[in-house]
Amino acid sequence: TNNMILIAILLLVLIAAVMFAYRAVKKELELAQLKADFVSNVSHELRTPLALISMFAETLELDRVKNDEKKKEYYSIISQEANRLGRIVNSILNFAKMEAGKRKFNFESINLNNVVENIYQTYSYHLQNKGFKFEKQLTENLPEVKADAEAISEAIINLIDNAVKYSADLKEVTLKTISTGNSVIVEVIDKGIGISPEDQKKVFDKFYRVSSGLIHNVKGTGIGLSLVKQIVDAHNGTIELVSEPGKGSTFRIILPIDINN
Ligand code: ADP
Repeated sequence: TNNMILIAILLLVLIAAVMFAYRAVKKELELAQLKADFVSNVSHELRTPLALISMFAETLELDRVKNDEKKKEYYSIISQEANRLGRIVNSILNFAKMEAGKRKFNFESINLNNVVENIYQTYSYHLQNKGFKFEKQLTENLPEVKADAEAISEAIINLIDNAVKYSADLKEVTLKTISTGNSVIVEVIDKGIGISPEDQKKVFDKFYRVSSGLIHNVKGTGIGLSLVKQIVDAHNGTIELVSEPGKGSTFRIILPIDINN
């Protein structure tokens, strides 16, 4: 019977090992698929603005546009698309740097209200142009946090980009700052398509994109939220998501307050 017990234990260990190997391989295969999708998504993401830029630049170059208003519109499309291209390339580079552990942060005591205010000023024209109601609700006397203002800006801008991309009929984006006493929260709130409970667990994974339903046509690379999470992690912060399909999403960046201040 001793032998029987030994065999049973060995069998159990074997089963566990096979299950473990199966899971690991499955995970690797899924990641390989996501990576392949990523490459094709990036190509699409880069191609669209490039096509628009060359089309409008050519039209202007050939002096085909006589109307001054139209000319202005075309120049503005070119600069908008060039900006978009720059943002995509930057986020890919930052993502790669972060993955390699080579991204450096410049931590300083800052007031997140200033960061949010700057972003609001920069983006309100653009968002209102797209038909969005864009609002900010800043808490006064916000405690300072130790943060890299540029990186936190990048994280918030990524969340705003998503809020815009994944909105449907109700075009509303709100930026909020909140103080809890030991941390400061920045919220980016939308009334868009929302995220199902299952997908909420996965959206921060690199390359992951919700591919079903309505949003199939929305372009993206699937690295935005993983970049946001990496930035927040590097600040010893946390990122939270509250979302309901069809109702909207709230992304919450929570950073500890700077106790030396
Ligand atoms: P992407 O480049 O696809 O936007 P992200 O990493 O930024 O990549 O987001 C991952 C996925 O999470 C998106 O593909 C989308 O399905 C979902 N998502 C992100 N933000 C929102 C949002 N505000 N509302 C609904 N879905 C969102």
